[in-house]
Amino acid sequence: MSAPDPSHADPTCIFCKIVAGQIPSRKVYEDDEILAFHDIHPIAPVHFLMIPKRHIVSMAHLTEADAGLVARMMLLAPKLALQEGCEPYPQGGFRLVCNNGAQGGQEVHHLHMHVMGGPRPWRIG
Ligand code: AMP
Ligand code: ZN
Repeated sequence: MSAPDPSHADPTCIFCKIVAGQIPSRKVYEDDEILAFHDIHPIAPVHFLMIPKRHIVSMAHLTEADAGLVARMMLLAPKLALQEGCEPYPQGGFRLVCNNGAQGGQEVHHLHMHVMGGPRPWRIG
């Protein structure tokens, strides 16, 4: 597995630090371009984040060249949801959330998708 290109990292970004191993995370999945890890403040029985290893700020910063990456992240979500204990569709399933910008509720400005699932009720997030 090749290391992410550090020229695509923001040294002040908490998720880039997780990618670089400078901040610990509970990993769910990793490949050359995608990392998934448990959210530190879960609001559901299953709650993990999927991020591109490359520092992309938000969906507003994606380009056509990222179409494959985004598709791969979305295709990965249901597989990882099952792996992490979500029950299958339709009785189980999961929620996929991607907050963008301040009014969109984005607190960490490195693109990430929340994958949440498991028996309800969930904490309000
Ligand atoms: P958002 O509001 O969409 O930007 O969500 C950022 C998420 O990152 C929140 O759910 C946080 O709990 C989560 N988070 C922040 N720092 C860490 C960390 N060090 N490890 C795992 N999750 C984190
Ligand atoms: Zn970053």
